[in-house]
Amino acid sequence: MLMAACECYHAGMRRLPLPLLVLIILIAFPVAIPIGIASWIWDRRRMRAAAERTHCERCGATLGVASLRRADTEWAKRVAALLDARPTMRFRMVRSLWAICEACGAEYDYDFRSRIFRRGAGSDGPGDPDKASASSTIPNLDDRVWLPAARPIEDFVCDVSFRVDGKLTTLRDADASGRRGSVVLAEIVPPELPRRAPGGIITADIVGHTEALVAYYRRLIAAAEEAGLTDQLQRPFPHFAVKPVIMADTELTEFAWYDTVSEAGAVLRAIITCPLDASEPQEILDDLEQGWRGRMTVWRGRIGLVEWNWEQTALPPTSGYSFDAAKLASQANPALQRLEAIHRELVQALGRDYWNYR
Ligand SMILES: [Zn+2]
Repeated sequence: MLMAACECYHAGMRRLPLPLLVLIILIAFPVAIPIGIASWIWDRRRMRAAAERTHCERCGATLGVASLRRADTEWAKRVAALLDARPTMRFRMVRSLWAICEACGAEYDYDFRSRIFRRGAGSDGPGDPDKASASSTIPNLDDRVWLPAARPIEDFVCDVSFRVDGKLTTLRDADASGRRGSVVLAEIVPPELPRRAPGGIITADIVGHTEALVAYYRRLIAAAEEAGLTDQLQRPFPHFAVKPVIMADTELTEFAWYDTVSEAGAVLRAIITCPLDASEPQEILDDLEQGWRGRMTVWRGRIGLVEWNWEQTALPPTSGYSFDAAKLASQANPALQRLEAIHRELVQALGRDYWNYR
């Protein structure tokens, strides 16, 4: 879903189901529209005032209203270019470009709470005026070059991990400097299962011991209720996050923003169902969210994976990893079956699906 034009301050708002959103809009319509317009005008006015008194970190020029206009145009161009190039790509992003220095092209994000412009990634070039538009170009990775250059990983584990923090945290309101930190509300005894993935337990270690995970989630829910955070359980992430992992000695994958069973399942299915010996490079995943982009391609028995911060560099700074496609699929398949079985047991035991967006 394209959300580029709206500033979502709360991560949970990102994925409100559409019918619910429509209902909220209908109920709130007579009040919300005028308030929304007024608060947008107000925010915009404050942003202009902030731009007038902010000096560019790189060249010292005042940012001013012109820098906001330039950012509006550039942002619209980037979103259009992305949509144009990859109309089928899963595409959710929060706007991160609010001002571009007229004098030197340095880019700035804006914090609506603290009303501070922050120098953004991707603007570290030596004053090159084309730099800003350079990062809007779409990577056209030549898989024939990319995949052979990727680092081959012989021994690996492909699975899905259930996040276990061992504590309940909540976001504190912004302090005077506009920073928001997380506060630990309670320690939650983790399940006595091996934690092979950093911060999580993989399905291979859960299967047959789902009751230990159920007990952990029960403790987590009880602690949230005790802390008066029942409403947070309506938005159960990140505590209930689930994500695909490929590990060797260390975790090789990040899959930023992957939270749900259905998202993890989609990655595994892409691996399982792809033509393992494709004679032409075939893309099986291209996903982008905020500062993260991930691509997977299969070609001649190898699957390549590269993840990088697309806001910093249009092309990935490394070639990523490559895996034997058949071996990867032979692990992804049972991992998916374990994931589905464990998920069913969890939902049944706790009476609700905390592991997917509703
Ligand atoms: Zn400047």
